Amino acid sequence: KVELIDISKSYDKQSNVISNINVTIEPGEFFVLVGPSGCGKSTMLRMIAGLEEITDGVLKIGEKEVNDLPPSKRDLSMVFQNYALYPHLTVKENIQFGLHVKKIPKKDRMIRTSDVAEMLGLTDYLKRKPRELSGGQRQRVALARAIVNEAPICLMDEPLSNLDAKLRAHMRSEIRQIQRRLGITMIYVTHDQIEAMTMGDRIMILHEGSIQQIGNPIDVYNNPANPFVATFIGSPP
Ligand code: ATP
Ligand code: MG
Repeated sequence: KVELIDISKSYDKQSNVISNINVTIEPGEFFVLVGPSGCGKSTMLRMIAGLEEITDGVLKIGEKEVNDLPPSKRDLSMVFQNYALYPHLTVKENIQFGLHVKKIPKKDRMIRTSDVAEMLGLTDYLKRKPRELSGGQRQRVALARAIVNEAPICLMDEPLSNLDAKLRAHMRSEIRQIQRRLGITMIYVTHDQIEAMTMGDRIMILHEGSIQQIGNPIDVYNNPANPFVATFIGSPP
């Protein structure tokens, strides 16, 4: 499980961009973090990943406090908002990068890579460089690179933002299936209410760095905690 205990963050020591976040994300849960642009979603995800210092509070993964643990020791994988592929490596090398780092044997690397490539429709693109791909294809390479690690926790920051509506709908169910099949804990960031509602076991609505509501999508939709949530989710009046 991933536990956030009274987590706050300020970049400039003056105003908090994240304030007093308390939440426990259960093992195997698909947890969606949703809210408007600038509300602090990426900041929160980056703190969990260890890419951003936590100003206040305690972050636990399992039973262990990890505030001071570097990203590589947290046993999680992440898909970034801008997907950060290595431009000089092929698709295949990009997907396998983390497996080399973890010293996974060659045979397993090959099997895992071709499985994931198949899953994400990348089999025909393995020899290409990122610049020879469309935005949507690059995004799928970023997803493949995260999934292939088989880390118990996966963090995704708006991984579908560059896809057209049809592919996005397809990828939503793909990601859910992969997450269920591997039994991983997912923390998924989006500003898209529909994505949150259709994908989340639970959703957490964030506004100006504060939690507005946490719950399963149907409960949140039917019983919004405040007018902000009602408007944001589009609950019936
Ligand atoms: P979006 O949906 O647009 O990606 P977000 O919810 O992910 O937005 P964050 O990127 O977490 O929002 O930003 C939250 C706030 O923190 C914003 O006001 C942003 O300007 C500020 N911020 C983000 N990164 C930094 C930084 N490195 N230094 C200073 N302020 C920052
Ligand atoms: Mg963001």
